[in-house]
Amino acid sequence: MTATFELRETDGAARVGRLETAHGAVETPAFMPVGTAATVKAMRPADVAATGAQIILANTYHLMLRPGAERVAALGGLHRFMDWPGPILTDSGGFQVMSLAKLREIDAKGVTFRSHLDGARYELTPERSVEIQRLLDADISMVLDECTPYPATPDEARRSMELSLAWAQRSKEAFAARPGYGLFGIVQGSVYPELRRACAEALTAIGFDGYAVGGLAVGEGQATMFEMLDATVPLLPADRPRYLMGVGKPADLLGAIRRGIDLFDCVLPTRSGRTTQAFTRRGTVNLRNARHLDDPRPLDEGCGCTACTRFSRAYLHHLARAGEILGPMLLTEHNLRYYADLMAGARRAIGERRFEVFAGGVAEAEARGDIPAM
Ligand SMILES: [Zn+2]
Repeated sequence: MTATFELRETDGAARVGRLETAHGAVETPAFMPVGTAATVKAMRPADVAATGAQIILANTYHLMLRPGAERVAALGGLHRFMDWPGPILTDSGGFQVMSLAKLREIDAKGVTFRSHLDGARYELTPERSVEIQRLLDADISMVLDECTPYPATPDEARRSMELSLAWAQRSKEAFAARPGYGLFGIVQGSVYPELRRACAEALTAIGFDGYAVGGLAVGEGQATMFEMLDATVPLLPADRPRYLMGVGKPADLLGAIRRGIDLFDCVLPTRSGRTTQAFTRRGTVNLRNARHLDDPRPLDEGCGCTACTRFSRAYLHHLARAGEILGPMLLTEHNLRYYADLMAGARRAIGERRFEVFAGGVAEAEARGDIPAM
């Protein structure tokens, strides 16, 4: 058996499920903090787990370049290397080859590129990507795909989607089924519903342990993103997890859960934590703002994180202004806690068949904006 998914509750198209992997279970809907270079920046692994996160994402592109997949394997795999005992999902490397690497060339075989670190030449094929993810010991591996650039004409989008489909087939053939390990396919097709549908059907025919929707949140806007989910998600098997890649803002997550998505990743909560931006029940708050200078109140009184239970807005503001390392640490923890709480709230609400009331309440509180300045 591979990684297994049990669908437990539904409320409309929204779902609660449980993904079982070799390194533990994930209650879905779930948000995966991004641990690009085998670390969730500014966080100790145990503190990431304490926020409520049950699975993290690591980036194949970064880890294949430094420290190298074979080295991580020799050191006991990624879980041991970074001291994260829980489930790990790795991306295929394709997206970051396109966005970070130099002198990249794509052909039917795969992609060759030069490292953005030292210019060394690498080749990434569907087979090599699957091998790297196995060496890293990822519980969930992703097929190599081409994240279609946006915007793309219908012809460009079709050619790109068909290349990704051929690579998905080869990834499936290269993937060695092991208990607790899974391989996910990725639906591409840009902003064209008919291409998205064709891709979803072709991937389902190949058969994967889960299905991701990729190539969204690249500038098309939320309405188009939701339209693509409406075209795609109903075609995916109900008994497999569904993952919306690289998304996003809290409202994006709730809209995607409403459409049947189970898994998310995004750098937004961690990156924002390092740039003094906090996600709260009353919307985003910038701790650099002078309105917090004398404010003894917690950042978010509904939050149980360290920043909110032990420190004032005035202190968090001081850390931000002074450029202290503790600032990013506390705000990253807070933001991950906010995202984990949002997912836990969604799971509870779906279980009680009141997801729409929950989502409406979150939107309403966010729309009220931050508490008035003192
Ligand atoms: Zn907090």
